[in-house]
Amino acid sequence: MGELLLVLDEGTTSTRAMLFAPDGRCCGCAQEAITQHHPGPGLVEHDAAEIWRKTHRVASAMVRQAGGGARIAAIGIANQRETVVFWDRVSGEPLAPALVWQDRRTAELCRALREDGHEPAMQAKTGLLLDPYFSASKIAWAMRNWPQLAEAGDRLAIGTVESWLVWKLTGGLHVTDATNASRTGLMAIASGAWDDALLDLFDVPRQALPEIVDCAGPFGETHAFGDPIAICGLAGDQQAATIGQTCLSPGESKATFGTGAFILTQYGARVPTSRHRLLSTVAWQLSGRRAYALEGSVFVAGSLVQWLRDSLGLIGSAAETEALARSVPDSGGVMLVPALAGLGAPWWAPEAKAALTGLTFASGKAHLVRAALEAMANQTHDLKTAFAADGADWHRLRIDGGMVANDWMAQDLADLLDIPVERPAFIETTALGAAMLAGLGAGLFADLEEAAGMRGPVETFLPSLEANRRETRLADWARAVRSVID
Ligand code: ADP
Repeated sequence: MGELLLVLDEGTTSTRAMLFAPDGRCCGCAQEAITQHHPGPGLVEHDAAEIWRKTHRVASAMVRQAGGGARIAAIGIANQRETVVFWDRVSGEPLAPALVWQDRRTAELCRALREDGHEPAMQAKTGLLLDPYFSASKIAWAMRNWPQLAEAGDRLAIGTVESWLVWKLTGGLHVTDATNASRTGLMAIASGAWDDALLDLFDVPRQALPEIVDCAGPFGETHAFGDPIAICGLAGDQQAATIGQTCLSPGESKATFGTGAFILTQYGARVPTSRHRLLSTVAWQLSGRRAYALEGSVFVAGSLVQWLRDSLGLIGSAAETEALARSVPDSGGVMLVPALAGLGAPWWAPEAKAALTGLTFASGKAHLVRAALEAMANQTHDLKTAFAADGADWHRLRIDGGMVANDWMAQDLADLLDIPVERPAFIETTALGAAMLAGLGAGLFADLEEAAGMRGPVETFLPSLEANRRETRLADWARAVRSVID
């Protein structure tokens, strides 16, 4: 049997294949960008055929590098969650564009359902809220607006991205893991089963949905790369990162700063109930038993830096933000509320627009860039307050994602949150978590605790900001946020 683990890490902006040794060493990576389609304001689509084509290409490169499929013990998949793919079971081709988690086209539909009083039941059943973010309203919209879906009848298959990839890899196995299913808004979180009343509410044909399975398999085999390889690990990217950061005990928390920012606190075997507009979600399901997490989702994080680069032309690269932020002693009173795609947790204001406040003639590029990076810690602080009010305060935060390569930002997080912030030397924790699940499913590890040995050393950032500066900044931020949601 092979000794390497092959991870398919399906981000929002790229698809990646990575090879891991069971001791956690990453021994190869191939990556391709995924095209972002923006057919109108607030609309974000992917081409599922492109996702599959590029995934196949990067995975093939890693299989070649490994010396063939026989050297690979198992495949693990971590994926962008909530994004929905619609395909034809017979042709194996997508029937429509994939609706991406960032897409806001169902804001109106969600508002109508909220006004009709559906949110409390939705929250009680699924742990989620009525927001366009989740898959359910996206499916409802697609079924109403894309006639080819209803016309496909029994040939229609619906799934999140890992479901689509498993289907393509195995040539027809239609499954989804419980973490991804818990983000659709269609799964009852306590039972781990699709909920008929919610399927009715969102007009979702049950026969089009996948079977809900564990996070560690084996689930099936792929022959897509020559020798057969077992698919043994499946998890939504944020849950995979929670596992990769070894947040295995209640209270342990991680924050991933990628395109968006996602913070999860491990909650254990009880379903958490948030009174402060956080989400309850499945952290993992193994042998039919679920562990849960509380989650705060921030829609705009690294995408703010991309916007500064691509739309404003203010910077040439994301990495430049660090030197610019350090070049000024503070943001000079400039505040940026990055509600470019509405505001997520704990505000959930889908129609809020971004605001840039406090500008004077003394404000320069460095102040604006610093305000953009400070917004990350500011938003995270709002979440810390909400988690604490829900009885899950953080005493230490484990960070990862593309943005935390920025040392200044890591320190700013520690300063504003006033707790130690831990950054692993290997920041691809999403891929690591998928590798841990794949290794568990392949029998390389007895349990997640043993798989946790794959995590390497960490660096700790300690808080060092004076209390009065922190308080002033938080008060300014609170005022700025209020101005965009009122
Ligand atoms: P995803 O997995 O969501 O596609 P990543 O975790 O790869 O995203 O993170 C990429 C994001 O991080 C991009 O939006 C980019 O703008 C941002 N980023 C990368 N490097 C830095 C940096 N040094 N400082 C600030 N932001 C950065």
